[in-house]
Amino acid sequence: MEKDLICGMDVDPTVALTSQYNGKTYFFCSTACKEMFDKEPEKYLKKDEPSGGSCCCGCSF
Ligand SMILES: [Zn+2]
Repeated sequence: MEKDLICGMDVDPTVALTSQYNGKTYFFCSTACKEMFDKEPEKYLKKDEPSGGSCCCGCSF
């Protein structure tokens, strides 16, 4: 499993949305999370642990 940097949940790489940044591939649970990352990737790459446990996009754990 890969980690969604935006909401912190684990996502299955075979079905996740992806975004390329600095030569690395990042995985997201939804377009909402992907768009947030695409807008400000640095903001999310800086923090190791996402704050809060619930997903911003409303998907359930
Ligand atoms: Zn998410």
